[in-house]
Amino acid sequence: MLEPTYQADVVVVGAGIAGLSAARRLTSAGVTTVVLEAAHEVGGRMATEKVDGFRLDRIGRLLSTAHPELRPGPEGPALLPFDPGVLLHSDGRHHRAGVQPGARARGTRSALHAVRALASAPRAGAGPRRPAAVPGRQVSVPRRRSGAPLGTAMDQARLGAALARLAGTPVERLLARPELPAAEALVARGLPARTIDGFLRPLLAALLCDPDLTTSSRCADLALHAFASGRLCLPEGGAEALPQQLARTLPPGTVRTGVRVTSVSTTSVATAEHGEFRCGAVLIATGARAAAELLPGLRVPDFHPVTVVHHTTDEPPATGASLLLDADRGGPVAYTAVVSRVDPSRAPAGRTLVTSTVLGPSVPGIDTAVRMHLARLYGVSTARWETLAVRHTADAVPAMRPPLDLRRPVRLLAGLYVCGDHRDTGTVEGALRSAQRATAALLTDLGVNRPLHTADPVPTARAA
Ligand SMILES: Cc1cc2nc3c(=O)[nH]c(=O)nc-3n(C[C@H](O)[C@H](O)[C@H](O)COP(=O)(O)OP(=O)(O)OC[C@H]3O[C@@H](n4cnc5c(N)ncnc54)[C@H](O)[C@@H]3O)c2cc1C
Repeated sequence: MLEPTYQADVVVVGAGIAGLSAARRLTSAGVTTVVLEAAHEVGGRMATEKVDGFRLDRIGRLLSTAHPELRPGPEGPALLPFDPGVLLHSDGRHHRAGVQPGARARGTRSALHAVRALASAPRAGAGPRRPAAVPGRQVSVPRRRSGAPLGTAMDQARLGAALARLAGTPVERLLARPELPAAEALVARGLPARTIDGFLRPLLAALLCDPDLTTSSRCADLALHAFASGRLCLPEGGAEALPQQLARTLPPGTVRTGVRVTSVSTTSVATAEHGEFRCGAVLIATGARAAAELLPGLRVPDFHPVTVVHHTTDEPPATGASLLLDADRGGPVAYTAVVSRVDPSRAPAGRTLVTSTVLGPSVPGIDTAVRMHLARLYGVSTARWETLAVRHTADAVPAMRPPLDLRRPVRLLAGLYVCGDHRDTGTVEGALRSAQRATAALLTDLGVNRPLHTADPVPTARAA
């Protein structure tokens, strides 16, 4: 039982990535802080479930090594990169796309050979297999008349140039571009239809968790900018490694789990079972819906629902550590990967973990539909794959439709602040940026002028 009249300079409500990042900034500035978390673990939506030695993320989250909010820290978990670019499935074949010139030059020869081998192999059961690729020998990739999913060599060159231009464009300039729904902006920018349908649509749907691409084109540009400037990656040990690392940097006793806040004012919070906490200021760092319960009148956005399905198999598909997207959109899976190839710590020794993400509302029989789709995507039978978990989150990602205010207010009153992914982009990076803005406002109001550290001690990007 906690002291009912516990005193702190600031009470932070919610120990997701935003609340923990804010607490770190506040405690670094010498402000006494307590974080109250309703769940029994920290991390919020970045939770990792442990099942039979597997580490299963609730979110099939794709981070980018390019994000400035995720600067390397010596003690943080490593960010483990996927193979460069993405693997696109189209008409029974795999095609590598979106590889940055730097990644190619750094020697991804074996990955490219693997892709060529995959590209030359027809779908399982679709006919005789071609000879396997011999490392070091060029393997011919059959040309398809349609050129799908990436179009002609000229289309691919234009795509490469467009991605390189995007990577070199300052974020401020991207944010000053006219704003449209992302699907309309893709067409308006004059890219070939094949490039849009075969690559950009499935990639953006995966990055934004938005299958219809109703998201603001500014968010889409930010997502593509991060994709083109870095590598998609996963935190070693599961998504929870990032919030847990932040929690470890806080003074002992700062985070109290199992404490649900029921109401707030500028000087106190009331909890369900632990009485009242007095303080100098309150920062609400919950998701949007819980924030609106505590702060009636706060806008609740629509959400993109997401289902994550985890399977294990004794026979790992031969896609290496690639992120596999379906350019044909021939089933429910938006993207999938053999994540134990990216991060072996997520599966017991000798086991394989395949994690797949389905965008949209929950539907009955999703596991069967996902298995059938995975069989086509990987070109193997999935009949004997074992399902480890199917996790649906209705309020997974706040919708970011235009016109979008990327810097929604975080200071409601002197003494009352709000942060989280609903105040910025609906992403982990947005949650972190909103925490930075909220703590800056809070410290100004408290009259604390001490310099803050500028980065959270989260992951270190590790070479492939
Ligand atoms: C399935 C899924 C897929 C996703 N995919 C992506 C993706 O691809 N890319 C991306 O960028 N983002 C993705 N996200 C979103 C990303 O996880 C969130 O943007 C980010 O984790 C939000 O962090 P937060 O700290 O703002 O909120 P949260 O993580 O929601 O943390 C809020 C915390 O507040 C606590 N809380 C709530 N009410 C109370 C209360 N009354 N008292 C005390 N504590 C309370 C909650 O228990 C929670 O721990 C995905 C999310 C899910 C679920």
